[in-house]
Amino acid sequence: MATPPLASHALVTGAAAGIGLEIARQLAQAGHVVHLLDRNAAGVRTAELALRDAGFSAHGHTLDITDEDAVAALVGGLPALSVLVNNAGIFEVKPFFEVDAADFRRMYEVNTVAMFTLSRTVARRMPQGGRIVNLASRAMLGARHYPHYVASKAAVVGLTRAMALELAPQGITVNAVAPGVIETDMLKARSDTNLDGLRALQPLGRLGTPADIARTVVFLAAPEADFITGQTLLVDGGRSLG
Ligand code: NAD
Repeated sequence: MATPPLASHALVTGAAAGIGLEIARQLAQAGHVVHLLDRNAAGVRTAELALRDAGFSAHGHTLDITDEDAVAALVGGLPALSVLVNNAGIFEVKPFFEVDAADFRRMYEVNTVAMFTLSRTVARRMPQGGRIVNLASRAMLGARHYPHYVASKAAVVGLTRAMALELAPQGITVNAVAPGVIETDMLKARSDTNLDGLRALQPLGRLGTPADIARTVVFLAAPEADFITGQTLLVDGGRSLG
């Protein structure tokens, strides 16, 4: 895999834990200076130190991505970013008749609207060859008991396609990765989850890992992926096949 240009800076949201932390680690391994952004101050500091201890160039930033002014101030103070990974997201189990409009808006604010506002802020100064990768979810295909999450992730797919078209003239590609069931805190927090039952539904016989997702994100962020844009790649061990 070709090495990215010298001092290429990459920003990963939700990088204090789970998939985001592994994406940051793999981007650092690929030669990027990584900026880890998360609302969890202690978590982002621990992640920053762990990456530095491993010899990588890493900077932690504590921020809520829905705070548009704070996001603009942060991005304005960073070098132009070659890679943005919109990974931060929230999830909750709540059946259709229990979800209210406030739940719906909260889900959209984090999973969709903040993805848009951060991307717009970053893209204004992104160089040619820039890469944006968004985290969608297999749930975009439809799932029971969390309609607001499903809708927010289906919207990520449309947003990815729209951004890909509008940013193509700047030489920026925009793609999404849609994970299946991945073993992270988000999954462990689900009271409705029986891991053995989920495993039994997986054609490849195992759940996904953050490394499975991070490898895909790093590929889409690499120079080799420069003819791929507007796509959403399902990484779910074949679960969506039936
Ligand atoms: P996680 O809950 O383990 O980590 C998410 C991180 O995002 C946390 O560190 C959290 O503090 C941060 N975050 C949340 N809201 C934030 C905000 N407003 N501002 C800043 N930081 C914020 O989640 P994960 O499992 O690693 O999921 C990462 C992404 O992958 C999410 O977008 C999620 O929807 C998606 N995804 C996960 C799975 C799965 O099975 N784990 C499946 C499909 C999609």
